[in-house]
Amino acid sequence: MLLVSMVIAASCGAERQADPSAETGEDTRIAMAVSALVSLPPEAALAVEAAIRAAPDAFFETLEAAESESAASGDLLVLVDKKRALPDGYEPDDLVSLNGYPLAVTRSDLRLRKAVMGAVLDMSAAAEADGVKLVYASSYRSYEYQDGLFRRYVASHGEAEASRFSARPGTSQHQLGTAVDFDPIDEAFAETKAGAWMAANARRFGFSMSFPRDMEAVTGYIWESWHFRYITKPGAALERDYFGGVQQYLMEFLDAYRRVVGQAAVVD
Ligand SMILES: [Zn+2]
Repeated sequence: MLLVSMVIAASCGAERQADPSAETGEDTRIAMAVSALVSLPPEAALAVEAAIRAAPDAFFETLEAAESESAASGDLLVLVDKKRALPDGYEPDDLVSLNGYPLAVTRSDLRLRKAVMGAVLDMSAAAEADGVKLVYASSYRSYEYQDGLFRRYVASHGEAEASRFSARPGTSQHQLGTAVDFDPIDEAFAETKAGAWMAANARRFGFSMSFPRDMEAVTGYIWESWHFRYITKPGAALERDYFGGVQQYLMEFLDAYRRVVGQAAVVD
């Protein structure tokens, strides 16, 4: 806790401790990471902290690789959830039609960011080599499209129920252009060959199931076995090795960690 307090004190412009050389850079780095876990449930935060302390070098190396790939494509790791909406008018500038690629689709108007197409193609080809056909059923959705979709779900299911499986406009991962739904978009997907293959292999290609089973209290959404977001390969490794396989924990951490690092940099 001392280290965390020191980081916070430093970020507030207060005087540094009289003898900072007593702390190593590694300890400070870990303290900064741990201080970025505050929004996680206490038990989850403790588990992440233990994993970081067990292998800090690998953690920071993987984190840096994830952030580096993310930054090169205009932030692939932005936090968007029920509490944090995307900026007004957010629309990726590198959307491409899936029609131009050798992919199975259920409709002809699907688009994704060009930045993720390499991973998408690799993943589909690997699935096919395993005898599994991935069929893309939904991808990028504009704010306006999501608005209409959510309104229709509210009309048919009521607002409380609709918000368990559909996002309000501005808060959908689909607006990022890096999230996909596979066919069929319902519970049955988990029981298909494609569902089993994705659950077992998505991470190898940088994709992550955003709303896992029994995590509604954390993610705000029911288990969506068909919905995956690209979070980079190192990001997916971080999620698996340090964040209990829970994308929401990783994203909340990254969001907070970027602020902690930014504040420390201002002081330096
Ligand atoms: Zn989805």
